[in-house]
Amino acid sequence: MSIDMLTIPAQCVAESRISELDYNNIEFGKIFSDHMLVADYKDGKWQNPQILPYGNMSLSPATSALHYGQSIFEGMKAYKDANGDLLLFRPLDNFRRLNKSAERMCMPAITEDIFMQGLEQLLKLDAAWVPPTSGCALYIRPFMFATDEFIGVRPSSNYRFTVFTCPVGAYYGQPLKVAIEPQYVRSAEGGAGFAKAAGNYGAALLPARNMQERGYHQLIWTDAKEHKFIEESGTMNLMFVIDGKLITPPVSTTILAGITRDSVLTLAKDLGYTVEERKVSVDELEEAYKAGKLQEAFGTGTAATIAQIATIHYNGQDMHLPVVEEREISNRIANELDKIKTGQAPDKHNWVHRISL
Ligand SMILES: *Cc1c(COP(=O)(O)O)cnc(C)c1O
Repeated sequence: MSIDMLTIPAQCVAESRISELDYNNIEFGKIFSDHMLVADYKDGKWQNPQILPYGNMSLSPATSALHYGQSIFEGMKAYKDANGDLLLFRPLDNFRRLNKSAERMCMPAITEDIFMQGLEQLLKLDAAWVPPTSGCALYIRPFMFATDEFIGVRPSSNYRFTVFTCPVGAYYGQPLKVAIEPQYVRSAEGGAGFAKAAGNYGAALLPARNMQERGYHQLIWTDAKEHKFIEESGTMNLMFVIDGKLITPPVSTTILAGITRDSVLTLAKDLGYTVEERKVSVDELEEAYKAGKLQEAFGTGTAATIAQIATIHYNGQDMHLPVVEEREISNRIANELDKIKTGQAPDKHNWVHRISL
């Protein structure tokens, strides 16, 4: 459907709150742009998409998402290029993944029109909220939840789809100290770990906090059967460079198919590196470390793009990785990916969705 065929009605704010925003001091996830997109699923179809002032929603205490967790989300970013155009990175992949999560959680698929058209209109309206500063971006949070007012475990008949946005500052994270989790699991084969379903994140909070209390920023999840194979770290996919090869666990029902993960693997292949998608055991990591072959370790995800790992703890020992400056592959790819996302490098793979104002 073309832009003209579906124009989502907008109720605009009388006065923008943008003057409250200090671009040099943005706290992640706390400042919300002026507008949000809302659509409701009723009588078997999505209805009444509209753009409203960002604000509270009124919900019944019996709203089924609050009790049984039919609730899914996405996370993506928009950047501003030198001409002031807005650049979305691989939004159709977020659209497809949201619908995969929906399918697993027994929820209806959102339509491409509402998702893409809604995003375009919302971003045009709130373009001033996309920080022009290098490293900053507008974080976009699409989500969907069950709205039946009914206390019984069954798939809801009614749902709400919403998108709101928040400006975010540059990610200046220090390299992470992570610890391999030997007891808790995030996800098991046949479960819903591959979906961005709300409950997965709630269940991960306690193990993560326990690790933080022991002095680590984050944990590394291991497989549910044997705690032998590496899965993900927090809400990032994990990659290692061992003896010059880029190695990452394959996506499965337990590992979320990160869009950053796919982008990093694609660029690594473009640059001629050897890429292996296969299981990585804790033993392999330890052996590579002892042999001096564990050269890089990092997480990938929309928030940080690439989050370097300084230390991996396992079984009473810390593995200390080479300093970040020496990490050829991750630094090179992080830099390349950043340039593509912000329109400073050619977009060979057609990843960037441009919105001209
Ligand atoms: C969102 C997420 C990722 C990263 O996905 P991106 O598309 O790269 O942002 C990885 N693992 C989990 C568990 C996630 O929720």
